Amino acid sequence: MISKATTLLLLTFSAIATCCGNANSIQKPITSIGVEDFEYISALPDVRLIDVRTPKEYADGHISGAENIDVKAADFAERIKDIKGTVAVYCRSGKRSLNAAKQLADLGCKVYDLTGGILAWQKAGKPTTKVETDVFTTKSGKLVKIHALMHSSIRIEYEGYESRKYEIVIDPCANLNGRKVDYSSMPKAFLILVTHEHFDHYDPTTIGRLSNEGTYLFMNPRCVELYGDGSALKNGDKTQLADDVLNTGFESIPIDIHIEAVPAYNTTEGRQQFHPKGRDNGYILTLDSLRIYIAGDTEDIPEMADLKDIDIAFLPCNQPYTMTPEQLVNAAKIIKPKVLFPYHYGETDISGIPAQLPDIDVRIRHYE
Ligand code: ZN
Ligand code: ZN
Repeated sequence: MISKATTLLLLTFSAIATCCGNANSIQKPITSIGVEDFEYISALPDVRLIDVRTPKEYADGHISGAENIDVKAADFAERIKDIKGTVAVYCRSGKRSLNAAKQLADLGCKVYDLTGGILAWQKAGKPTTKVETDVFTTKSGKLVKIHALMHSSIRIEYEGYESRKYEIVIDPCANLNGRKVDYSSMPKAFLILVTHEHFDHYDPTTIGRLSNEGTYLFMNPRCVELYGDGSALKNGDKTQLADDVLNTGFESIPIDIHIEAVPAYNTTEGRQQFHPKGRDNGYILTLDSLRIYIAGDTEDIPEMADLKDIDIAFLPCNQPYTMTPEQLVNAAKIIKPKVLFPYHYGETDISGIPAQLPDIDVRIRHYE
């Protein structure tokens, strides 16, 4: 049996061979590959995996970690224009992805195209998922992949120092009103953030499952008390992470992951007992230069006016516990994020929010 590393070597070799065999010696920007090679390459930390089918096809099931950019949509060229580096693309059977691959190659990307599309993937017995992924790039070109698990649970993969992949989870919960998230196939977390002790945010079994001796666990003080482990951050506390794996001497190296705990509380008369001021956290997670605000359970509090340069905001939407859609729109206008994910919305109808925020890229994902 050929190992994955050997397979990749063969692949690289064949790409080089193709290149050298070409009279013009031009590097081949598009490589068509089968399911096994595609599975390996698309999971590498600095590779962007794109499903170029329609949003409906994507919603019905896609390869884990794939973002959706519809090659037939009018804004396709606009949405891919800043993509750099290595990209893996697929569609249903391989026709549309080849078209997308050509456009990406024209932008200078190295593209791997899945021969036979997701039909071949499924025929080979490979899994699909309904967890949606959005991909962002930091100013220095590192990839940040955000996976919408459910409700308040967010998973982030960050391609950090020397392409090391950092696994980050916020409020990981496995089971909520019959909805389940399977954490068993996910890697151990480098960082876990917990906002507060309510059952839809604090799930000690899942925290245990995702932790190992190297895991950073930051929670509000009450959760640290309940869990008997982890580090407490209270409103206003800031910290920078370090990585032991990058240890060159006796001290671990500070890395470009920063965390700030910010206030999260209710302001509406009669609801302050749900989330009293000073107890719970929201977080600003900064990855390289990318600033992500995870609001936690809060209303549109005055402290939001102090949040500066937020690239991505997660704002909750389910009164009586958090905000109404009107409050969320108000909060978004104060914070002015570039991208907004309404989350923690349960049964609340949030479909009218994007039209009220024309200057913000509002993305509705399965955070109900
Ligand atoms: Zn709560
Ligand atoms: Zn909640």
